Amino acid sequence: ARRFPPSLSMVSYTQALLRYLRPQAGRVAGLAGLLFTATGLQLLVPQIVRAFIDGALAGEATRRLVSMAVWFLVVSVATQLLAAAATYVGTDLGWRTTNQMRADLADHLLALDMSFHNDRTPGELIERIDGDITGLANFFSQFVVRVLGSGLLLVGILAALFREDVRVGTALAGFTALTLVAMYRTRSLAINASNSERETSAQLFGFIEERVAGLDDIRANGAGSHVMRRYAEVAREYFFKGRSAWMRRSIIWVLIIGLFSAGFLIALAAGIWLYLEGAITLGTAFLFYQYMNMLQDPIEQVTNQLQELQKAGAGLIRFAGLMNTTTDLPAGDGRPLGAAAPRVEFRDVTFAYDEQPVLHDVSWTLEPGQVLGLLGRTGGGKSTITRLLFRLYDPATGSVRFDGRDLRTVDVDDVRARVGMVTQEVQLFAATVRDNLTFFDGSIDDAEISTVLSEAGLWSWLESLPHGLDTELGPGGSGLSAGEAQLVAFARVFLKNPSVVILDEPSSRLDPATEAAMADAIDRLFAGRTGIIVAHRLETVARADRILVLDEGRVAELGDRDRLAADPESRFAALLRAGSLEETA
Ligand code: ATP
Ligand code: MG
Repeated sequence: ARRFPPSLSMVSYTQALLRYLRPQAGRVAGLAGLLFTATGLQLLVPQIVRAFIDGALAGEATRRLVSMAVWFLVVSVATQLLAAAATYVGTDLGWRTTNQMRADLADHLLALDMSFHNDRTPGELIERIDGDITGLANFFSQFVVRVLGSGLLLVGILAALFREDVRVGTALAGFTALTLVAMYRTRSLAINASNSERETSAQLFGFIEERVAGLDDIRANGAGSHVMRRYAEVAREYFFKGRSAWMRRSIIWVLIIGLFSAGFLIALAAGIWLYLEGAITLGTAFLFYQYMNMLQDPIEQVTNQLQELQKAGAGLIRFAGLMNTTTDLPAGDGRPLGAAAPRVEFRDVTFAYDEQPVLHDVSWTLEPGQVLGLLGRTGGGKSTITRLLFRLYDPATGSVRFDGRDLRTVDVDDVRARVGMVTQEVQLFAATVRDNLTFFDGSIDDAEISTVLSEAGLWSWLESLPHGLDTELGPGGSGLSAGEAQLVAFARVFLKNPSVVILDEPSSRLDPATEAAMADAIDRLFAGRTGIIVAHRLETVARADRILVLDEGRVAELGDRDRLAADPESRFAALLRAGSLEETA
């Protein structure tokens, strides 16, 4: 898969925001309304308190004082309710937008080719799809509520202070500006540390996921202590990165406390001085103090959100990077493949997963309806040939052709719809046998499944399962043998009704009953279809019309099975004589 250098300008921020916020315009407007009203009410509270204090000192009627107190309560409660409503609408907005992003990203990643997925552990992708985007959810919901709301409140407070006394207004505006700048400057200290903390956390989860998935093999090979050691190393890295990020965040925290102490000092000193001068009432002195108190929260919110913006920015860059990763498999020209069994051809195919070539100039042709038996030593490239036929990869040079048409010109989805593949290691899910057969496609009813299964000769096998179609499989399909898992995969292929069938036989031995069911199923599977079978057993290879022996990615022998079997000089005949398809020489 091609990766573009991750870069994201301010334009793409706005683009991303707009693209996902536009469908939610109504909610955005509602949120803005809530924020405006809440801010206005918040600014009103200290004014009421001042009127109350000054009124009480002037000996106003109790009835008026009580009504002011009631107004204070009403406005305070209303502010809280509005703030709660704004948070609700904001969070709802955040989740709606990011659920869409999650879905878009998951869709995009699933459509990427295998070389992309081979390069990444599932844990890493989970962290990208879920972790990063949850970070963005906070950004979408909080940023608007907090930054917009806080900015509005800051401006409102400073305007109110200016109205009272220009000197106090100027002093506290200066304080606000200084604090914002100081906090903005220091925040980059924490951002980089937080980013590398997130990176190492993704690595740690990737590591754990992969090792837990390979538990059997790790135990069997006694690699436990090695894995634990690696785990300790990765976790240690995470700890140090986390600690450094935490310490940097703490520095900023201490700075905030120091700055705000200074702010309170300004407000108190100004209040006391002006009051002693007789320039203001006691209520106004208290008003200064209260407004100063109210500055604290929005300043913190704005700087916190600027940090969040950075974090969300990093997440958004990774999101854009992944969304910009394109598949190495070019799109086709849109012409569909025919439904009839095609003539299948490899023309001078060379292929490498990484640097090391796996296939060298492989050429062969198979007439419609014929079956090719693929033989050869382990690691020779047999499964690789099946992956090229399924367009999991495209050849580096040469071409794979159906009825003479290069598969590169056919849409990937179309190739995969026309080609049925049973892989060497069948992947099953913790679900019922029915769901494993239909891949959770609820539109396929039981009648269709049973028709297909009886056609495939698999019905009696299915009846032997304890609960038939409703038999629940364990995680990873545990509860079925390797052979039975292949039978399920056969049934999947029958349901799909493809015109080309690829069967990568499991190299493990099967029990005789499963083997018999499988032999029948294979016969029916290949009827009327062009077939490629990677054979590890003599019985299976008897079905093949043509034989291809691969040796280290090169065609060592190619011909009609009967002719090769009759030729005592051929490799195939030697294999038959040895009674095993595993070449020993
Ligand atoms: P077997 O009989 O054991 O199934 P095979 O003939 O099917 O073997 P392939 O799976 O095609 O062999 O592998 C051919 C070569 O390609 C091997 O050397 C293998 O290590 C390499 N290979 C296979 N899959 C990958 C992959 N995803 N990434 C990198 N190299 C791979
Ligand atoms: Mg293989």
